[in-house]
Amino acid sequence: MAIFFGLNIIFAWNRVQYSGDFNQYGYLTIANGGLALLFGSRNNLLSLVTRVPSTTLLMFHRWVGRAAVFYASLHLYGESRDWIKEGEVSTVFANMRIQVGLMAWLSLALIFVTSLSIMRRQQFEVFYYAHALFIAFIIGALIHADHAPEFLLPGLCLWALDRVIRFSRNFRRIQILSVTPYATDVMKIKIRGFKTSYPGQIAWIQISEVSFLNWHPFTVASAPGDDEAMFLIRGLGGYTRRVQDLAKKNNFEQASIAEIPFPWKIRVDGPYGVSHTQWEAYPVIVLVAGGVGITPGLSIASHILRHATGTGENIEGRPPWHVHLLWVIKDEQHVNWCQEELQNLFAMSASPTVQATFDLTIAITGSARLEARAANDDEFIALEGQTSHDYNGPGELIRGRPNIVQWFRALRSKRDGLDGAVNVCGPRSLISMVRTAAADLSGRGGIFHLEEEVFEL
Ligand SMILES: Cc1cc2nc3c(=O)[nH]c(=O)nc-3n(C[C@H](O)[C@H](O)[C@H](O)COP(=O)(O)OP(=O)(O)OC[C@H]3O[C@@H](n4cnc5c(N)ncnc54)[C@H](O)[C@@H]3O)c2cc1C
Repeated sequence: MAIFFGLNIIFAWNRVQYSGDFNQYGYLTIANGGLALLFGSRNNLLSLVTRVPSTTLLMFHRWVGRAAVFYASLHLYGESRDWIKEGEVSTVFANMRIQVGLMAWLSLALIFVTSLSIMRRQQFEVFYYAHALFIAFIIGALIHADHAPEFLLPGLCLWALDRVIRFSRNFRRIQILSVTPYATDVMKIKIRGFKTSYPGQIAWIQISEVSFLNWHPFTVASAPGDDEAMFLIRGLGGYTRRVQDLAKKNNFEQASIAEIPFPWKIRVDGPYGVSHTQWEAYPVIVLVAGGVGITPGLSIASHILRHATGTGENIEGRPPWHVHLLWVIKDEQHVNWCQEELQNLFAMSASPTVQATFDLTIAITGSARLEARAANDDEFIALEGQTSHDYNGPGELIRGRPNIVQWFRALRSKRDGLDGAVNVCGPRSLISMVRTAAADLSGRGGIFHLEEEVFEL
C-alpha cells in the first residue's frame, strides 16, 4: 500500500499552471484503470504466481479503482475549467474525442457510486452488473487518450482470458449427490465433478432454477482433492432464501438423491482463493468458527488429518499435528449441519496411522433451553462456558458464550512451545475477540499466526 500511495503521489505532483498540465491526471487514470483490471479478475495470474490471497487483491482493486476515479475527475475538472470560463463548452463538447472521454469518466463515476459499501451490501446485483461499464471506460479511454493501449491492454487481455476460463466452466459436468435442508434455514449440498486445490477455497454457484443471472460465492467445506465437494448455504437474503425454498419444495428430506433424476442444474465456477498460510507447516492448527463460518475450518481440518496419514509426503519421525476447533453456534440443532463430517474427523484422528489429534469444542450461545434458564443478561453471562453432560454428539459441548481468551490460554498451556496457525471465520465481533486473544497469547511459548475470513466482499 505504501508503494502504491508513494508512486501515486510522486507521479501526481505537479505545479499546475495551464489546463494542459491536467493531462498528467488523465494518464494516471488509465494507469490505475489498467491495474484495477489486473487485480480484479477471478482467475488471477498475480495471485497464482505470488500466492497473494484474493482478499488482498480485492483491497488493491478497490484502492486503484478509487485512484482512477479521483484522477479522472481531477483531469475533467482541470480541462473543463477554462472551457467554461471562456464559454467554449458547446464547441469543445461537440468534439467526438471529448465526448468519449466524458463517457469514460461517467462510467467510472457510476462504478464508483454503485461500489459504495451501502450499495454493495444492499444491492449486490446493481454493484456487480454496473462493473460491466468498465468496457465503456476502456473504449472511451482508448479513443480519448494517446498511449492508452500500453496501459490498458495487458489488464484487458488477462481479463478476457479470465472470462474465457469462466465461460468454459459452464460445460463442466456437475452431479448433485445430495441436498439436505435443515429446519434452521441452512442447506447442505454435496456435488461431484469439482475439486479444490487448497483448503478453504471458494466457488461461485449458479442454480438456474433460482436465477440464471446470479452467481453467489460459497466456501467449499471439503478437503482439497476430495471427489465430493460440500457446501453449507445459509438463507440470508433474497437469493439464498429462494435456494432454501427450492430445496424444501422438492422435499428431499435427508435422503441421498443420487439415484433419482435431479430436477435442478447447478453450475460451479472455481475453485478460487489461495491462503497465505501453509497449514501443514504448523504443529498446532486452531480453527474458530461462528455458524456457517465452520466451512473453511472443516476444509482445513480435513486437509490436515488427510495429510497426517502420510499419503502426500513422508512424515515419519515428524511430531503430530494438533487440530483444535471451537465452533460457536446459536442452537444445539445446528450441530446437525455437519455432525457426520465432524464424526468422520474424529474417526480419522483415532486411526493409529494418523499422526494427528483432533479436539472439538462446541459452544451454544442461545438455545431455547439456555434462554429459559437465563432470564436476564447477568445470568446469561454467569452461565459462560458450562460443560454440558447431557450431550452425546461429537466433541465437548458448552452452554453459554465461550470465553475466547480463556480458551486460547488453555490451548497455549496444553501446546506450550508450539507455534499455531489460526483461522477464524464468523461475525466481526468473534473475529475481533480471536484477534485479541491470539495476539495476547503469542510470546515465548509460541506464536499464533492469524488468518481472518468474513463472508462478504
Ligand atoms: C468469500 C465468501 C465465502 C462465502 N461462503 C459462504 C458459505 O460457505 N456459506 C454461506 O452460507 N454463505 C457464504 N458466503 C455468503 C454468501 O455468498 C451470501 O450470504 C449470499 O451471497 C447472500 O446472497 P442473498 O441474495 O441471499 O442475500 P442478500 O441479502 O442480497 O445479501 C447479503 C449479503 O451478501 C452479499 N451478497 C449478495 N449477493 C452476493 C453475491 N452474488 N456475491 C457476493 N456477495 C453477495 C451482499 O453484499 C450482502 O452483504 C460467502 C461469501 C463470501 C464473499
